[in-house]
Amino acid sequence: MASKLSVTSHRADILGLRYVYPVISRRAGGLSIGVNFNTNNTCNWRCVYCQVQNLTVGVAPALDFALLEQELHSVLADVLQSDFYDRFEVAPDKRVIKDIAIAGNGEPTSLAEFPDAIAKIAEVATQQKRVSRQ
Ligand code: SF4
Repeated sequence: MASKLSVTSHRADILGLRYVYPVISRRAGGLSIGVNFNTNNTCNWRCVYCQVQNLTVGVAPALDFALLEQELHSVLADVLQSDFYDRFEVAPDKRVIKDIAIAGNGEPTSLAEFPDAIAKIAEVATQQKRVSRQ
């Protein structure tokens, strides 16, 4: 049985993926597709309010582009073409993708391939948008 997804229920591991996770964003008013590059919980800062568990000083690990592409295609296709919102019991007024947020467990711009990663995310999003309109 799928877990409920709401503004008060955020679980980055809800799909069991490495990079991509869905959250319902109160601020955005709908579904936010999160992408976490810092899978090793690393940051180049040390904010006193940080909520990242086991945060260490460092940079994001090398990105598995093929896996990121696969995960993002899979999640976007599920949301746009399947029963994602019903399975996760998303409130009717939140059933819209508001953004793809590069966020997660650390500083995403510490990823060495950051520009290429953003280009890949844009490429996948554009492809999925095109398919969903056919
Ligand atoms: S992950 Fe964000 S909140 Fe945590 S130390 Fe880095 S910049 Fe600050």
